[in-house]
Amino acid sequence: MRDFELLYPATIAEACQALRRHGEGARLLAGGTSLVQFLKEGMYVPEVLVALQRIPALDAVVAADGGLRIGAMARLTDLERHAALRQAAPLLRAALHLVGNVRVRNVATLGGNLCHADPHADPPTALVALRAEVVLGDGAQSRQLPVAEFLLDYYETALRPGELLQGIIVPRQERGQVSVYRRFTAVSEEDWPCVTLAAVGSVRGRAPNLACAALRLVVGALEPRPRLIAGIDELLPLEAGDAARRETLAETVMAQLAPVDDLLGSAWYKRQIAGVLAREALADLFQQGAAP
Ligand SMILES: Cc1cc2nc3c(=O)[nH]c(=O)nc-3n(C[C@H](O)[C@H](O)[C@H](O)COP(=O)(O)OP(=O)(O)OC[C@H]3O[C@@H](n4cnc5c(N)ncnc54)[C@H](O)[C@@H]3O)c2cc1C
Repeated sequence: MRDFELLYPATIAEACQALRRHGEGARLLAGGTSLVQFLKEGMYVPEVLVALQRIPALDAVVAADGGLRIGAMARLTDLERHAALRQAAPLLRAALHLVGNVRVRNVATLGGNLCHADPHADPPTALVALRAEVVLGDGAQSRQLPVAEFLLDYYETALRPGELLQGIIVPRQERGQVSVYRRFTAVSEEDWPCVTLAAVGSVRGRAPNLACAALRLVVGALEPRPRLIAGIDELLPLEAGDAARRETLAETVMAQLAPVDDLLGSAWYKRQIAGVLAREALADLFQQGAAP
């Protein structure tokens, strides 16, 4: 690793100034779990690291717009344990709980996870399903974007030069809404996922006559960004006993994905796994819907 300067700005404005001053030579440092690995491998050779740790309240979680605003520097473990988050967005909490291992979650931040834009990351799949938005700022002005538009490509986001991610706005899951997060790892449970799937929906009726009346399904890790599955509304209401319709749902999911062969599995295999996860997620939603 080459020598670099380490800056600790006290405000967002100072951090953004440093980014503008050093241009391509500057990198923001959050938890460092991904960045340091990239530095060691020589994939980034920065002149300056701009550490966000000392900016007050950048890790705060506050109520906002009927949901929660999560500061970019909030650590995954703290979020996982946050009572308000558990209540407002159990889907996100479920995804955070499965990230890597506890040592990673103790240090990694939600902002770092999103800005790193690794397609295999868990939180983005849940955040897209929840229609979450990011708040980006340059120290003077801020703008808001859906997470689905923030993630552009492999390790690429919509951040402009001199901008940083300030926070993430997560809408509150509605009363009666059910949700499930699933991931499949091809090697060990703590490994990066081969496929991720998040589902948010509503179930009506009483067991055994349950029907899924609304469903938003997002599949991640297979393509550069999470994919919101289209055409599900046409399959609704989906009755719990309708096996043929359930299969159509799985086929609808598989047909829209364009995975690639890699060390985690072949494209064919990953597509099949996505279908399995979709079936399992639906069963899980019905189970939640049947609970008193
Ligand atoms: C062993 C291991 C296993 C892992 N397994 C998983 C997994 O299963 N699922 C998963 O989702 N993730 C996994 N991760 C990734 C981990 O969650 C990420 O490393 C982490 O999310 C990055 O967060 P960080 O706070 O450490 O960011 P950093 O490493 O500090 O930064 C990452 C990138 O984001 C930029 N950045 C950080 N904060 C901001 C900001 N506020 N504004 C703009 N840019 C910013 C940095 O400049 C850098 O480019 C794993 C990591 C490790 C090391």
